[in-house]
Amino acid sequence: MPSSRITGELRRRVFESARFRCGYCQTSQLVIGPLLELDHIIPEGRGGASEENNLWVACPLCNSRKSDRIEGLDPESGAMVRFYNPRVDVWSENFEWIESGAIINGKTDIGRATVYALEMNHPNIVSARQLWIIAGWHPPKDE
Ligand SMILES: [Zn+2]
Repeated sequence: MPSSRITGELRRRVFESARFRCGYCQTSQLVIGPLLELDHIIPEGRGGASEENNLWVACPLCNSRKSDRIEGLDPESGAMVRFYNPRVDVWSENFEWIESGAIINGKTDIGRATVYALEMNHPNIVSARQLWIIAGWHPPKDE
């Protein structure tokens, strides 16, 4: 089913499950200007369905970098590994905040490949995180 068929009800359920945060970089809708987007975990172009179990929330930066990919290079091992799946993987097992929350460090091959491919430490977002830290809005306390 094409994404145009995703109902408002399904969209709302996915956003609530994701707590209105990017499943990858954890950026909250409360602190980012542009609207968070629905992410097809397995992209539609690769046969991923527009069904709840394949949908999560991503910020425009992560979503555009992820694009139609499902795997990336682990810069440590040089191996291609699948991306982090926000529906089945645990964020804190694969990533950690360092530098007071300004930087996301990949703890596993999946975490490193996802950080690298999605440019989760792009200078623009790191600058924003540094301001959110000063304001006390970041990093999220529960993950
Ligand atoms: Zn993100």
